[in-house]
Amino acid sequence: MPELPEVEGVVRELAPASTGRTIVEVEVSSVIKQSKQLGKEAIVKGKTIDDFINELPAMTIKNVTRRSKYIYFHLEKEGQPRLLVSHLGMTGAWFVVNSPEEVKEKRFRDHIHVVLKMQDGGLLIYSDIRRFGELRLLNKEDDYIPLLKMAPEPFEQIAIDHFIEMTKLPKYGRKPIKEVIMDGQIISGCGNIYATEALFRMNIHPARTAERISEKRKRALFQEIVTVLQESIEAGGSSISDYRNINGEAGTMQTRLQMYGKKQCNTCGRETKSMQIAGRTSVYCPKCQR
Ligand SMILES: [Zn+2]
Repeated sequence: MPELPEVEGVVRELAPASTGRTIVEVEVSSVIKQSKQLGKEAIVKGKTIDDFINELPAMTIKNVTRRSKYIYFHLEKEGQPRLLVSHLGMTGAWFVVNSPEEVKEKRFRDHIHVVLKMQDGGLLIYSDIRRFGELRLLNKEDDYIPLLKMAPEPFEQIAIDHFIEMTKLPKYGRKPIKEVIMDGQIISGCGNIYATEALFRMNIHPARTAERISEKRKRALFQEIVTVLQESIEAGGSSISDYRNINGEAGTMQTRLQMYGKKQCNTCGRETKSMQIAGRTSVYCPKCQR
């Protein structure tokens, strides 16, 4: 699942490649149309397919930014701002191309679900193999409440105090620290990969409850999460499973991960263990992490 660094990588490429371009036509796959007819909210959320297809044309992309794991397309139509919010789910990917054939990998090409045709003839393609992604056309951010509940960006100064204050609440204090740091209302954009890495680097057991970690250690843990996220942004993200940037390229952070997906601890050589925390597999070293 793409986390903050992977989404940041997509946005850094999408922004220059799509800003200033105007949408003239929208196509949605028959798979998505059929699941909407069955009452399922597949990919296109909060609107009917007809409204989605009819409203987007004539909108100009003013900018593309990231908020947590969401991509924000800032749009404008007749002087009115609109917002297209995209979440990549497990396997979502954007491609800026001139034809669908230019999407190099067949499995992405076979799962194209939304095509935005541009005035200049180019295409902005959204592909999603497992279809857990989301596209939500809003007037503004406030129209979708979960966006307002997200924790501050981890690189903002207030984010660390937000994290400390939230973990003081009994509701979160009694939870495993790994579950807490993967909660988007507590820290924005840190999922399984980077939570696993930061906890390993800090020698903290993923199941230790948040209230059993001192404030000093929690502050150091937060800094380590920020460091891991920044390292990954610089490496172009981790290409685990199906993450690709808009050119279909993969990042290199996976070669630098020390614990995620490892059978053996890099530090002590022991066999790693794994357990389920909040429905996700958590890998850890039983000797180094306490
Ligand atoms: Zn170890």
